[in-house]
Amino acid sequence: MSLPKRYLITSALPYANGLKHVGHLAGAYIPADIYVRYLRAQKRDVVFVCGSDEHGTAIPIQATKEGTTPRAIIDKYHEAMKQDFEDLSMSFDIYHRTSEPIHHETAQEFFTYLEERGELETKETEQFFDEATNTFLADRYIKGTCPNCGSDRAFGDQCENCGRTLSPDELINPVSTLSGKTPIKKKTTHWYLPLGKHEEFLREWILKEHKDDWRATVVGQCRSWIEGGLQSRAISRDLDWGISIPHADGAGKVLYVWFDAPIGYISATKQWALDNKKEWEPYWYSEDTKLVHFVGKDNIVFHCIIFPIMLKLHGNILPTNVPANEFLNLEGDKMSTSRNWKLDMRDYINDFVKKENGGGQAVDMLRYYLTQIAPETKDSEFMWKGFQDAVNSELGNIFGNFVNRTWVLMHKLCGGKVPKLHEDVLTDDDKWIMREIEAAKSKVENLLEEYKFREALFEVIDLSRKGNQYMQKKEPWIKAKQLEALKVSPTGGDLEGAQKSIDNTMHLCLQLSANLAILINPFLPNTAKKMLGMMKVVEKMLDWENAGKLKLLSVGYAMRAPELLFRKIEDDEIKYQVEKLKSGLVKPETDKKMETDTNTPLGDGGKPSIQFDDFAKIDLKVGTIVAAEKVEKADKLLKLSVDLGFETRTIVSGIALHFKAEEIVGKQVVVVANLAPRKMRGIESNGMILMAEDKEGKLHFVNPQDAINPGAPVN
Ligand SMILES: [Zn+2]
Repeated sequence: MSLPKRYLITSALPYANGLKHVGHLAGAYIPADIYVRYLRAQKRDVVFVCGSDEHGTAIPIQATKEGTTPRAIIDKYHEAMKQDFEDLSMSFDIYHRTSEPIHHETAQEFFTYLEERGELETKETEQFFDEATNTFLADRYIKGTCPNCGSDRAFGDQCENCGRTLSPDELINPVSTLSGKTPIKKKTTHWYLPLGKHEEFLREWILKEHKDDWRATVVGQCRSWIEGGLQSRAISRDLDWGISIPHADGAGKVLYVWFDAPIGYISATKQWALDNKKEWEPYWYSEDTKLVHFVGKDNIVFHCIIFPIMLKLHGNILPTNVPANEFLNLEGDKMSTSRNWKLDMRDYINDFVKKENGGGQAVDMLRYYLTQIAPETKDSEFMWKGFQDAVNSELGNIFGNFVNRTWVLMHKLCGGKVPKLHEDVLTDDDKWIMREIEAAKSKVENLLEEYKFREALFEVIDLSRKGNQYMQKKEPWIKAKQLEALKVSPTGGDLEGAQKSIDNTMHLCLQLSANLAILINPFLPNTAKKMLGMMKVVEKMLDWENAGKLKLLSVGYAMRAPELLFRKIEDDEIKYQVEKLKSGLVKPETDKKMETDTNTPLGDGGKPSIQFDDFAKIDLKVGTIVAAEKVEKADKLLKLSVDLGFETRTIVSGIALHFKAEEIVGKQVVVVANLAPRKMRGIESNGMILMAEDKEGKLHFVNPQDAINPGAPVN
């Protein structure tokens, strides 16, 4: 099979609505980066694109949460994510953003192209509309009970509890998260991409052509989508945040984010080409380009079914592969941003990378562990203890130890220079390690070409393991002692033979180390760079074609002193991380209130039982409302000043639809006094007022029957 002429590699565009955790990193970023670094070392023509996905309702929702504008949110998180990726040695050729004009134009052109060729349908439908706020409700703005698992943490697009994809119509008892009211249905017209028309194409292309070379998990998910019946999918929506629709009937509508986001790969390629004075078209139109999308499993449907249909209709090439990863769990539980059960890239960077002198070591330790446990075929688990073991026992004790012993002995026994290889006295052990060095290249290469990064990394570590075995068998330090003894022995002996054995051992260990640098480079680029420094050679040596060679380091060439490649991870560090994780856990029950920005109780009974200790953690106090005013531009929020006896607190409460500000001054209330402060519409709220909700949905204060001193505890 002839090699592709060029490669376009993409990593899923992360949503610019928050920091990303290591589960994301393991899923769509590190594997892509390994693959790209390998291709670059192969001198292939490769462009690696990624960027922030800055549209969709998640952005204005986050803006509401943080009391700011959508623009401020995307600026903040775009910069943060870009920085985090850089800090973890992700080597994108461009990290773009979908808010850029070039992307808007590209996505609009794409829409118009399909629209003018009659590839889209329009349909009038009834959609949920919130009369209180006069807006059509995006799926994310509708909350209700999941028809699948019964959880009340289900949104109009997906259930947070069981992960099932939903449509708003499937929700039981839907309410608007904007007003807390039951929405009505209202007519609206939208464009649709009729996926069903392309079923035969998908069957042929995925289920036949790619059934063997794509991951079984990916083909399996595609099969179930196809067999489940492909519905037309709306590509426009009523929203004011996104890419406007270039059509006479498009007023007030934007492109659905799932439609514009993957086009972001194209606009990023265009921008990269502009920046580098290259042509972008071959990467998206030439059949000799290999397009590979790296994504997490939640993105399979978009990259294997929907986007390929769009690409086909638009005349672009199709992806050659979509090596999607499964999920990474953390310490025995699903990673979750809303429950704060996660390890953000930023946290790792602060706790490990930033604390290191120089840099790169901590980055590579994480890259190593995440690759070693990569969820390539099934979900896997990040365990802090596992991280410690991987770093200390494998990276340190096997790889690091081999390189370090080689350097120390070479300085001690060979004067810091590469000794000669004496071909006349090669032993079976020498010949064995030479064969292993030569064989490692194709083993690692074949696995990388098949996107089996975990196994490929194993082979690299295995070569260093063999290096240790080899050195252990040859025992150059014993040979050195024998040599010293022979030199002073009156009877003499085979001085030359002993010296040759030492030379051969150290020569081969050094060539093996050079090979390790080349092979580890795609996975742990900082380690490879450090090894280059120790070998005093230029980066060119890392070219993949040098792997498997036995003459990388010239005889007589002087090496530098060894540097520690990997430090030990101490028990204390692990203990600290586990405790930090556990103490930060937000229980789903309290989380509901966090998400809805209101005191309106959404749950209706059926909460799991708690221990007395759980209850005792809540500091309930009687307070007196001394002032109240409406919060600007927030229909349902009141800003209250509440006298708690020892201090007067500002509390923002979602009760404005039920009470007028002036009516409630002087009322006594029960306050959750130790709720962590949070910002709503830019105002810091320090507590929560307890409310009871009646059958009609009206709220009532919970308060003592008789007037009592503010600050009185409620037990
Ligand atoms: Zn569910």
